[in-house]
Amino acid sequence: MNPTDALARISIVLSRTSHPGNIGSAARAMKTMGLTRLVLVAPRFFPDPEAVTLASGATDILEQARVVDTLDEALAGCSYSLAVSARARDLGPPPMLARAGAQDLYAQALQSAGEVALVFGNETSGLSNDEVQRCRGAVMIAANPDYSSLNLAAAVQVLAYELRTAAFQGLPPAPGRTTPFSSQPATHGEQEGFYEHLERVMVASGFLDPAQPRRLLPKLRRLFGRARLEKDEVSILRGILSAVEDWRR
Ligand code: SAH
Repeated sequence: MNPTDALARISIVLSRTSHPGNIGSAARAMKTMGLTRLVLVAPRFFPDPEAVTLASGATDILEQARVVDTLDEALAGCSYSLAVSARARDLGPPPMLARAGAQDLYAQALQSAGEVALVFGNETSGLSNDEVQRCRGAVMIAANPDYSSLNLAAAVQVLAYELRTAAFQGLPPAPGRTTPFSSQPATHGEQEGFYEHLERVMVASGFLDPAQPRRLLPKLRRLFGRARLEKDEVSILRGILSAVEDWRR
């Protein structure tokens, strides 16, 4: 299965969300990372214009969101689920850190036939012990121990990013060329042709005295070597040199 399809199997479950703006921001966080399934357990306000505003271009995620009454309903079709909580629970499973948790959940999404889920709690009270115990494991975002509670949508963003990183091993799915105009690297012969041409023009112009070269050419070779010249660039540089030669005639 390709990573895009595997990510599409992961549900983000928000339990008892109080602020509709957080639902919108969570939808946006999901869409930026290629997640599409949002499940809302008994949201206080939904649908709501605030959610639409904060979703920005991710309103399709809100429109497709499934709204249910209980966490059991949300997880009914899931083969694996992780509770996302800032607090370790006495009886709950020991939490994984975000990166390991995302890798674990992604691996389950690849293997399992159905959905898998990440469950987030209410803004004020978090997830109840009962909710945490209904999940197969727990995940925690390591944060400042004196102030470790992230905004709900920020927590969704961190986990969504880690899921995407797990899916694509840190690479964008189709890396774009960093330099849109780049051509093939210049061959050895093309580079040597350029250095000969440069030397000829430097001597003819009086810039380089062949009797006292003062390591000028090795230094220029080092400079152009760092630039890793491409075919087009060698053509441009040689074009300038030819123009200088013509101009002197
Ligand atoms: N006061 C609540 C925090 C709620 S924040 C508490 O102590 O649990 C809303 C939700 O964001 C949490 O239920 C959790 O799902 C997520 N969250 C916030 N900070 C987190 C952290 N450091 N690690 C994991 N989840 C976090």
